[in-house]
Amino acid sequence: MLKEKLKQLVTQKQFTDEEIVLLLGLTDPEDCRILRDEAYARTTELMGDKVYYRGLIEFSNICTANCRYCGIRKANHQVNRYLMTKEEIVEQAVWAANQGYGSVCLQSGERHDEKYINFVCEVLEEIHQKTVSPILPNGVGITLSLGDHPKEVYERWAQASGNRENLRYLARFETSNQKLFDYLHSTPGKNEKNLQHRFECLKALRECGYQVGTGVMIGIPGQTLEDLCRDIRTFQKVDADMIGMGPYLMSEGAELGALGQRNPKELMQLSLNMIAVTRLVLGNVNIAAATALQVLEPEGREMGIEYGCNIVMPNISPLKYRAGYQLYDNKPCIEDEPTQCASCLERRILSRGRKVGWNLSGSSRKWLQRNRKPDEKLPFVSVKSDEKRQIWIKAI
Ligand code: SAH
Repeated sequence: MLKEKLKQLVTQKQFTDEEIVLLLGLTDPEDCRILRDEAYARTTELMGDKVYYRGLIEFSNICTANCRYCGIRKANHQVNRYLMTKEEIVEQAVWAANQGYGSVCLQSGERHDEKYINFVCEVLEEIHQKTVSPILPNGVGITLSLGDHPKEVYERWAQASGNRENLRYLARFETSNQKLFDYLHSTPGKNEKNLQHRFECLKALRECGYQVGTGVMIGIPGQTLEDLCRDIRTFQKVDADMIGMGPYLMSEGAELGALGQRNPKELMQLSLNMIAVTRLVLGNVNIAAATALQVLEPEGREMGIEYGCNIVMPNISPLKYRAGYQLYDNKPCIEDEPTQCASCLERRILSRGRKVGWNLSGSSRKWLQRNRKPDEKLPFVSVKSDEKRQIWIKAI
């Protein structure tokens, strides 16, 4: 495509499906740079220059679902199943809050039993109690990523969090291609997935006051650029506040081995294009740089930031559990302690011209606007202890 025409096209505020497909399919390095630079500039303009942390705690790999692509699917009997104790989860969350992470993300396999639902309530209550401070007056922000549940359950968790101002839920619909979705999920079992049901869950989450996050896997074998374009249109339809997307990667423990995986270089560029186009079309939503990007390229998450991401999710699960949470093969950082991850990450973020939003929960601006809430500011705190001083210094 003519460079001048492309430069003009990316600055548009609205796009036709044909234009979206064209942008998603860019491969020429110079064209991709034009898309990247516009997405980065648009992110700065709409979201500011900060990247926010969500300390990711993968607290259990016990799962009742059998999603064909996933390494921790129920039918994979090679996995050692674990559930972190309440104390362990709370300890990680408090650690994150003390480090200046404004929020944490609790993720697990999907379970529907009362014991689990109640366990999550207790964890949320305690995290809230232990993280309210002058620096985080509402406690550490919470993102849940626990799969499909009835509205009553989402409501119970929202109440338990004690922090509806900074409450989020991430439930990807994985693909808007109905046939592909069914193929990926229709394996025998009690907890078979249904695309329509996932949309109902997103609606229920919205009604319970969560900031609603969704997303897809990019480059699933059989998925076309038109499918990805429809995915973006679907993000618009569900009026998502946050997007989390990453490349589809092979997993030995899954069931799709025979389909293979796209060529890593192409898959990486397609993923970055998808992030950038999502930023251009959706505007002021939070977009997370998925860990899966880092599998394809050591600097994958930084590249995600350059293409429009403003959220990263450092893994803060205790080391001994990491190997048990391999949704896909070659997951990075399974041998790094959380502290190592955090300091190396800040350097990486600064290297791309962004700052870390220390002690800020980084709410989606789209959500703030919809709910007529002002932009977040750091609360004034009097600095007493050295520890607090450090956090404060980091914050300014
Ligand atoms: N059980 C919860 C959250 C855990 S799975 C849920 O279902 O929402 C989190 C995400 O990991 C999924 O939404 C999926 O998009 C991603 N994932 C799983 N297997 C993957 C694979 N093989 N490649 C890339 N992403 C994968």
